[in-house]
Amino acid sequence: MVKLYVVIPCYNEEEVLPETASRLKDKFAALREQGVITADSRVVFVDDGSKDRTWAMIEEFHRRDPLYMGVKLSRNRGHQNALLAGLYSVRDMADAVISMDADLQDDINAIDRFLEKYREGAQVVYGVRSSRKKDTFFKKFTAEGFYKIMNLMGAEIVFNHADYRLLSNCALNHLFEFKEVNLFLRGIVPMVGFQSDVVYYERAERFAGESKYPLKKMIAFAFEGVTSLTIKPIRFIISIGVFMLVVSIAMLLYFLIRHFGGHTVTGWTSLIVSIWTLGAIQLISIGVIGEYIGKIYLETKERPRFIIETFLKDEDGKGTEKTV
Ligand code: UDP
Ligand code: MG
Repeated sequence: MVKLYVVIPCYNEEEVLPETASRLKDKFAALREQGVITADSRVVFVDDGSKDRTWAMIEEFHRRDPLYMGVKLSRNRGHQNALLAGLYSVRDMADAVISMDADLQDDINAIDRFLEKYREGAQVVYGVRSSRKKDTFFKKFTAEGFYKIMNLMGAEIVFNHADYRLLSNCALNHLFEFKEVNLFLRGIVPMVGFQSDVVYYERAERFAGESKYPLKKMIAFAFEGVTSLTIKPIRFIISIGVFMLVVSIAMLLYFLIRHFGGHTVTGWTSLIVSIWTLGAIQLISIGVIGEYIGKIYLETKERPRFIIETFLKDEDGKGTEKTV
């Protein structure tokens, strides 16, 4: 049996919270009956500095039923930080933790399959949207563009996977070895490694209320993701510089031919060639400086250099080879 915790960040979710709570309660009851999860499994709501009755509701749930736990942040810190706060608060309390949204867009019935994969040995299970039929064209276009651009910019994230995922306690603990302040979960979880699996689910419409992720937040989120995960944008500068240098050499040859052919105005050749070459050299120089700054940036993150999954040592071996 698995001791399961479900962590849910909530920001102004008074309209959906009672429904989410009751559906999870039913789900937990069913799973307990099937002998899949333990009786001390919990639902953890994280209040991300809501301005409505969200926290009052969470307190009420907790008072009525020990199934529900609550974490309250001192102010609004955004979905990622709220989720992180929740995960951090429950580390070592459960065998496996599932994170999901409060608005019932993540199909609660997928939890069964998450747990199946966990029992098959997966330490990380990603919930992936099988389709976006219910999303508006705009949401679909911007969201799918988000994943494509992120990957292009060097942030390796799982396509169409948001934050509906299961983490084993082991994976969760290693996740917190990434001490960076700007922790972009979708990019960091794949870095943690371990056996992982995918569960496909149909993304529903928001149950009630409106999205707390307007386009402006989405762009900021994508920018955060790229700049916090990789220094690839800096590398682009060097690539552009090198490209410019190659072009300028080609131009030089071309202009020299024109010059000796006598087709040019005096002084034009040297002028145009120096503009191109200097531009290229400047770009490359900025890129090289950027590369060093990028290195410093990554060093400051103090990411773990490796995570050991198993270590077969003398003491643990059964020593069957040792014959007298
Ligand atoms: N959320 C949060 N803090 C915020 C914004 C959102 O904790 O500042 C939570 C929100 O309550 C929900 C989840 O993050 O549980 C996803 O938000 P939403 O459903 O509005 O995003 P969308 O599904 O539209 O991308
Ligand atoms: Mg949503």
